[in-house]
Amino acid sequence: MSIEFRDLKKQYQLHKKEIDTAIREVLLNANFIGGSKVQQLEAELSEYTNVKHCITCANGTDALQLALMAWNIGKGDAVFVPDFTFFSSGEVVSLVGATPVFVDIEEDTYNLSPASLERSIQYVLEKTDLEPRVVIAVDLFGQPADFGQIRKVTNKYNLLVLEDGAQGFGGRIGNKRACSFGDIATTSFFPAKPLGCYGDGGAVFTGNREWADKIRSLCVHGKGIDKYENIRIGMNSRLDTLQAAVLLKKLEFFNDEILKCNQIAAEYTSRLSRFVSTPTIKEGMVSSWAQYTVCFQNCEERKGTIEGLRKSNIPSMVYYRKPMHLQKAFEEFKYDRLEYPITEKICECCLSLPMHGYLEMDEVRYISNQIVNFIRNSMVKV
Ligand SMILES: *Cc1c(COP(=O)(O)O)cnc(C)c1O
Repeated sequence: MSIEFRDLKKQYQLHKKEIDTAIREVLLNANFIGGSKVQQLEAELSEYTNVKHCITCANGTDALQLALMAWNIGKGDAVFVPDFTFFSSGEVVSLVGATPVFVDIEEDTYNLSPASLERSIQYVLEKTDLEPRVVIAVDLFGQPADFGQIRKVTNKYNLLVLEDGAQGFGGRIGNKRACSFGDIATTSFFPAKPLGCYGDGGAVFTGNREWADKIRSLCVHGKGIDKYENIRIGMNSRLDTLQAAVLLKKLEFFNDEILKCNQIAAEYTSRLSRFVSTPTIKEGMVSSWAQYTVCFQNCEERKGTIEGLRKSNIPSMVYYRKPMHLQKAFEEFKYDRLEYPITEKICECCLSLPMHGYLEMDEVRYISNQIVNFIRNSMVKV
């Protein structure tokens, strides 16, 4: 049994014919930037998320930066970011010259805690000269952030909501899809994300025409009427035509993959929930399962399990080992009254297990049994 953490090889083998045809078509047309494939993809992504404007770009990090640039976020602005996320979510804030303020998470969903958010906003208002402007709410591991509760806070303080849906694409709250909850939302098509291409790619979503137009300009060198008339300083951030062709094919079976991932998650949870803390999906929400992440009692139990899994050739990953506020790159931002007990605990105890639409149920059972055995053995020892 050879278990992959995310099996892109199997996905390709199963859909090889259509994907090869799509790639060959782009090669024969020899049109590699922009063109009708990119336009068609933007239209389909827009329809999928039910968000009026979709602008594709080079990657999910650029997508976040483009959103902040469209809002003129910069020096003196505070942007609230979960303490438990991939580095990009905070990096872009510093890139545009604003100040990231990290916020603790909810223990059961790993997503931004609305209560901690409000405490952080009040702290910034009382103790700093920064102006609170934006909350970056991350759909971590595939589950949408709690936008209902987050909006209650952002409405009170008049903040913009930027949804980082890099991991959330394909997830839902009720019948509304991820990337439709932020004033602007972004996603990533990095190969290991729920909807991945064969390189880097990203997209920005918004219902606001003015912001959409500005982002379209920003991602092509701040273009005006065309690329050679430049009305602002922008970036070079475009999605390749080849990637658009691959994504159009992958969109056709994307919902089936999400469905399968949800069946796998249910199987993991039914087998593991008595032994480890399994992920909680809130009422009415559907995860796209970018990761299936459990939490152990302590660091030693996690370490033992990783070692045991490795010996059985089962890959596992720690997402994420370090809270954002402890990253060296952010060491200048210290807020004496802001604390992150939950993020710190989760970073010590979490472990992500193999999860993808091509995992077999007997593989899920095998992985689960191994984990249960390690935990039972370690309990006997103490
Ligand atoms: C992957 C990821 C990004 C960045 O996407 P790239 O395409 O790799 O630049 C941003 N935020 C989160 C939460 C991510 O997981």
